[in-house]
Amino acid sequence: MVKLFDTTLRDGTQGEGISISVDDKLKVAQELDTLGIHYIEGGWPGSNPKDELFFSRARKELKLKNSKLVAFSSTRRKSRTAATDENITKLLAAQTPVICVFGKTWDVHVIHALRATLAENLDIIRDTVSHLKSKKREVIYDAEHFFDGFRGNRDYAISTILAAADAGADNITLCDTNGGCLPGDIKAITREVRQLLPNISLGIHVHNDSGCAVANSLAAVEEGVDLVQGCLNGYGERTGNANLGSVIANLKLKMGFDCVSDAQLQTLTEVSRFIDELANQVPHDSMPYVGNSAFAHKGGVHVSAVAREASYEHIDPSVVGNRRRILISELSGKASVAFKAAEFNLDFSKDSEAVTKILDLVKQKEHKGYQYEGAEGSFVLLVEEALGKRPRFFELEGFRVTVEKESHPGQMVAEATLKISVEGQVRHTVADGSGPVDALDKALRRALKEFYPNLRQMSLMDFKVRVINAQAGTGARVRVFINSKDPKSEWGTVGVSENVIEASWQALVDAVEYKLLKDSRSAVKARS
Ligand SMILES: [Zn+2]
Repeated sequence: MVKLFDTTLRDGTQGEGISISVDDKLKVAQELDTLGIHYIEGGWPGSNPKDELFFSRARKELKLKNSKLVAFSSTRRKSRTAATDENITKLLAAQTPVICVFGKTWDVHVIHALRATLAENLDIIRDTVSHLKSKKREVIYDAEHFFDGFRGNRDYAISTILAAADAGADNITLCDTNGGCLPGDIKAITREVRQLLPNISLGIHVHNDSGCAVANSLAAVEEGVDLVQGCLNGYGERTGNANLGSVIANLKLKMGFDCVSDAQLQTLTEVSRFIDELANQVPHDSMPYVGNSAFAHKGGVHVSAVAREASYEHIDPSVVGNRRRILISELSGKASVAFKAAEFNLDFSKDSEAVTKILDLVKQKEHKGYQYEGAEGSFVLLVEEALGKRPRFFELEGFRVTVEKESHPGQMVAEATLKISVEGQVRHTVADGSGPVDALDKALRRALKEFYPNLRQMSLMDFKVRVINAQAGTGARVRVFINSKDPKSEWGTVGVSENVIEASWQALVDAVEYKLLKDSRSAVKARS
């Protein structure tokens, strides 16, 4: 059995640009519980009031089924006893069943940073751990800079963890705090420690500075470590901690350790993306197992093989809750188009003439600068168009957008006036917005709402603009991507023009029309 220890809420928030409010910290903890993480480190109550508040609210508000909450701290100060140290008092006041306490391992740090003698540091470790044990806590002892300390002064590094073990620590976690080790180093040193301490639970905590954090964690497990510390999505100081999501999937799927259940593993992708959202991070498409591109395929031959279930994927995406994506591009062969169409239940896979038509249209559009990777909504509409089946939900009679900037208070104001008709009925609307696209979006919805009340459930999530042929100077075209969602799904749409408003309008219209098409199709399905 390997246990999982997530430190997103403590070490993870040391990462650049990551700040999580107390409300969101509580949500993150609840998600980690769903995933089946054994230990959730919530913060360092002695170091800041926000973490103290987290623990007091966690006691009342969190309903953890699988996880135990952990509070974190350093060992006691040199001049105090553990019983009189305020840091340790606050740590115990957090009332968590588990405590993680870190101490110095490297003789150089003891002398220069702690300004203590080597013997004093051993006392500090012993006193802190035994005090926490006397308060009936499960204690995880983090041996800070263990691997560097071991290489600097092997005997002293070992004596620090023996002090923690003798004082009753339930687990000794070896830390590569600088993150520079390679898997070979981790393996060799962990093996020696395992031989010296055969009967105590060992853990591993590594940072990713040499790009090996996941590999290092797995190497330690191979040497008998039974607790892995890390952060979901690999958040953390500098280059981050070991990505716990990758660790979990590898442990379970590649190494046969039952660290989480099959059902919990299936929540991995969703939990990863939800935590990115709470931490205000854009998910990395290329993240192993859970990224949007982790099972994305491009190029004709390969796609036809994937479609025939040949093994071009290292695992079945559904076991981690992800999905296969077939990317449509100029490189695509007929197989990609047919496969993609099948994904959207567009029934023409046997009709090779239709497939050729669609492929031609995709190529023409791509030549103009459109891109359908990540714009599935626009792709579906394009297929409908190629087949002559694209429904028209409204006709545009015209719009005007004005943007004004006042010198005082200096805010931008945009206003859109729009005229459309739906089955001969004309609607004329006006709306303000924070920018021209926002104003257009509001004016369009206002005009359509009485005809299509379901548009109320739809919202725009993301808006991206790329310049596609910068060498043409002012005549450059821009490509606009819009991501939209409703309670059931998310979809992307694309627009291209020399004018950013026009490109945005196309992407906006596709977003709305895709939503209406999707809902009308599922209504037909429900009736039949
Ligand atoms: Zn760390």
